[in-house]
Order: sequence, then structure tokens, then C-alpha cells
Amino acid sequence: MEVFDEVFEIQTLRDHIPRQMVIGNLTIEGFSRAAVQTYWRIPELKIGFDVGSQPWSFMGLPRICLSHTHMDHILSLPAYVARRRMMRMVPPVIYLPSEAVSNVRNLLAAYSRLDYGALPCELIGVNAGDEFIISRELVISVVPTFHSIPSVGYIVWERRKKLREEYSSLSGNEIRDLALSGVEVSREWRIPKIAYLGDSTVRALDETPGMYDAEILIMEMSFVARRHQSDKIHKYGHIHLDDIVKRQKNFNNKAVIVSHFSARYADKEISDTVTRRMPNMLDGRLILWF
Ligand SMILES: [Zn+2]
Repeated sequence: MEVFDEVFEIQTLRDHIPRQMVIGNLTIEGFSRAAVQTYWRIPELKIGFDVGSQPWSFMGLPRICLSHTHMDHILSLPAYVARRRMMRMVPPVIYLPSEAVSNVRNLLAAYSRLDYGALPCELIGVNAGDEFIISRELVISVVPTFHSIPSVGYIVWERRKKLREEYSSLSGNEIRDLALSGVEVSREWRIPKIAYLGDSTVRALDETPGMYDAEILIMEMSFVARRHQSDKIHKYGHIHLDDIVKRQKNFNNKAVIVSHFSARYADKEISDTVTRRMPNMLDGRLILWF
């Protein structure tokens, strides 16, 4: 079983310290509970997912990807934008389902009037299939998800240049001469670093193979108990433990973080139920995130 380090850093303001975990070369921080709040960040990538709450330390994020506009996922958006303005930071970029853009703009405008302060930010409406190049090394792709309201998921890819195989036997000088003559000697090579599901049925995993291949998958598993039957859960646009049990062989991820548990369960009921149904916890790669 792989062991992950838990890291606790001192925050400047201890309003709320979310759980942190280092997996490979990335730190995952956040919290998610259905109907309570959902928010995540990966500081090394400077990317956040959802903004149901906004710990003071999270305001440094220059961009947040919103999965959908249920209240527990966006409630702290005005606070996030306002704090960055107050601290004279660059206005943030917020990716969100395209259907929600005008209502979120109206929400921010109303807050701006109530707060007597501007809320400068860039709202970018996204649709499944879109791609955004955010740096030389990173690309975000938008993937379809299936929830009760318009929703999307995201995969963050690291991209590298790799020499094309047909030139692998050439010397450094020969490759340089070819490149100077205008030949494309390398091709782009992408590694899915993080996949973020947001709220969805399991269909979103099955239809986007990158979700099962990402090094780290952050996903919801709102329901675990037998008394909450999986077919009913699918109608609400959520995932049941049964879905994961059936698909154990599909997960190629180094770590699968499951969260967004229904508030009807105590933590112990969740961990007891999951360890009973999947004793090897996906070979130790399954992480229950409370
Ligand atoms: Zn939701």
C-alpha cells in the first residue's frame, strides 16, 4: 500500500484549515461534503476547483474552475473576487458552464452593489470539449458530466515536447539542422495530472477515458449505503459506492480521492461501509476525504 504524506502548513489566518495531502509532486487541499461546501486547490498548478467556501489562504489562486452552480459549490465566489481586489491582486479567471455565465454575472453585480465595491473578474463560459492553454506546460480540458443542472468536469494536462520516433537515431547536430530547416522534429506529449469530476453520475467517468487515466482523480461519491439505491441516486445526478465497486478494474489512477459524501452519513459509517465492500481500497489508491 502506498503511503502519502500529510502536510500541515501554518496559515496566516486560521479561519479554516482544510485537509492537505501530498501525492507525487502535487499537493491536494480542500473539502467537500454534499449540501455543505466543496472547494479544492492544487497550489503547484495554481488551479482551484469550485468555491463553496474560501479559506483566507486560497485567495492567491489566479483561477478557479467551477463544475456547476449549486450553492454548495459557488457560495464564496463573491468573497474570493472581493478579497483579491482588496489585496490588489490580478482579477481572477473563473471558468464555469456557459449556461450559467449571465446569472453569475448578475449575482456578482448585485453583490457589488450591496458591498459598495467592484468585483473585477473574467468569467469564461465553457462547454465540454473546450481546451484552455494556461501556461507553457499546462492545458485544461473541459469534459462532459451528468448532473441535475448544467455541469462540467475538468482535466489538467501537463504537456511536454518529445522527439518524434523517426528522428531518435539522429545526432544532436542533425536534429538541430532539421529543426532549423523547418521540420517539426518533436511532437506534443500530454500527461493527465488531475481530473476533477464535480457532481455527476458515473457515466462521466465511463465516457471520458482520461478520467480513469489521470494521475489523481478527485471525484464525488455522494452515497454509500444500501438503503440509498444506486438507480435512484443516478436520477439525482450522483454516484453510489456500487458504481465504484463494479468498476474497480477501470481505475488506472495513482490516487482516487472520493468525497462529497451525503451529510446523512457519519464519517464512520462511510469508512466502515467502503472498507467492507472494497477491503483492498483499490490497492491502497482509494482515499476517503473527510
Ligand atoms: Zn450539485
